[in-house]
Amino acid sequence: MVNYLVEEGHWGIYKNIENMPLERFDSFRTIINEFNTKVGHITQFSLIRGNRPFEHNNDKDEIFHSPKDDSFCKVVEGTLPAVLLSKDSEKVEDALSINSAKSKLTDHRAISIVNLFTPMARVLYDNVQQITSIRDKSVGIGLVHLLTNHYDTLTEVPIEEVEKLLFTTRLAQKNSISELKAKYNTEKLTLLHFFNIGEEAGASICHLHSQTYIYANEIGHGWTSLGFLSVPGFHKKLKNNMNYCLACELSKGDRKIIDPIGQDLLLNERTVFENDEWLVVTAFSPERDGQLRLFPKRHVSQFIYLDDKQITDLAEVMVIANKALDNFIKGTNPSMHLLQDRNILFRQDNVGYESGMHLIIDIIPIQRIGGAEIMETYRIATMFPEDVAAIMRESLKEVK
Ligand SMILES: [Zn+2]
Ligand SMILES: [Zn+2]
Repeated sequence: MVNYLVEEGHWGIYKNIENMPLERFDSFRTIINEFNTKVGHITQFSLIRGNRPFEHNNDKDEIFHSPKDDSFCKVVEGTLPAVLLSKDSEKVEDALSINSAKSKLTDHRAISIVNLFTPMARVLYDNVQQITSIRDKSVGIGLVHLLTNHYDTLTEVPIEEVEKLLFTTRLAQKNSISELKAKYNTEKLTLLHFFNIGEEAGASICHLHSQTYIYANEIGHGWTSLGFLSVPGFHKKLKNNMNYCLACELSKGDRKIIDPIGQDLLLNERTVFENDEWLVVTAFSPERDGQLRLFPKRHVSQFIYLDDKQITDLAEVMVIANKALDNFIKGTNPSMHLLQDRNILFRQDNVGYESGMHLIIDIIPIQRIGGAEIMETYRIATMFPEDVAAIMRESLKEVK
């Protein structure tokens, strides 16, 4: 079962420390911040990823019904090997395992496996104990979470299956975090959790999946993450209230919310959907037209801390929010250059930071942008989010 003939770099397993992925910071925009980690623009070099398969059908009319013969379908059928970390709510291998195997998984609904083309080194299998000087190397775990049934988009998936996917994701993330902390003797990890849906959104395989990158080498973070991590402390100081959390304010049912910098957030107008645990709104200051933002109503800093009820309700809002976005994009003018492909980004506290951040999930469609927007965290939108929300609410009524 144990496969020692792994190709260099597959599943993040390296024989030679010289081949491990590297990271570089842009010297002109990198500082060391109050968390004592680097903040700046990071480029990771993972040369093996150039060999990734690209498994998309080029016929655009077929985009929502890709053939069920991709690598993930083969893993599920047991014809391709994988390092299996979780199946539904059951743990399988340790996160740093080198055991790859073929196993039939069709009796399960969702699984977590190690990313075959993981962008960081996970283990050195001939001399595991020798990953000591890791500071300039990129070390951690790349996870893939997927449904055993084949779907192209979240909108098509029954809510119970989305729920299974979220549960197996939570389990694999929890186990990976604790195993990385023990292995590298650190309390601080950087975690990136996201969906790429559609080829323009960066998915190399159409079979619906999400991913988690967990870095153990104090990779630091970019300015975007720093913004999210620094703002809760800024708000608390400004309001002179150590318990203040803007996202918690949004869930209190009081629809007139003025943010700490004095903007009326027009919450009522932007609300698209809500259930017991989650609020779905169009983003007040969207990065792309149609951007949606999901907030848990109870304060949670990281995805792994969502309880079962929050996960169950999240499955529902994820499907409904994606439907609302599908409907909105279908009706937009082609000159807006909005595509159905999208990213879903889980913005959360880094492990071991305690920044006070409230988990936010952004659903951002692909839209063509220009130079000014690449130069800055800046965006020229063509519609007000209040109007987008009205269209989305109306479209959800038609579906029901
Ligand atoms: Zn598939
Ligand atoms: Zn909160």
